[in-house]
Amino acid sequence: MKILNEHREPAGEMVSINEDGTKSSSPLGENISTEYECPCGKGKIVATFENMAGYRDSWVKIECEDCSKKYSVSYNWARDEKPVLTKY
Ligand SMILES: [Zn+2]
Repeated sequence: MKILNEHREPAGEMVSINEDGTKSSSPLGENISTEYECPCGKGKIVATFENMAGYRDSWVKIECEDCSKKYSVSYNWARDEKPVLTKY
């Protein structure tokens, strides 16, 4: 499965007040979104992993009209970093 693109962006932030009264913020975690080429090559499969302090979630979707009719997809970041396609 070919990777087309990967996005990483900070998710949520923690704002704290410094001793001099200024504010500073730090990200609580990050969202990692990876796009894979779908089997027919016309669309893509997007897997998203949300990794925050004390909270993790992942999901995947097929962004291809043809492949979404032919396959179901599952994704588990902890077990397998690549989405697994199953033919209906
Ligand atoms: Zn496709």
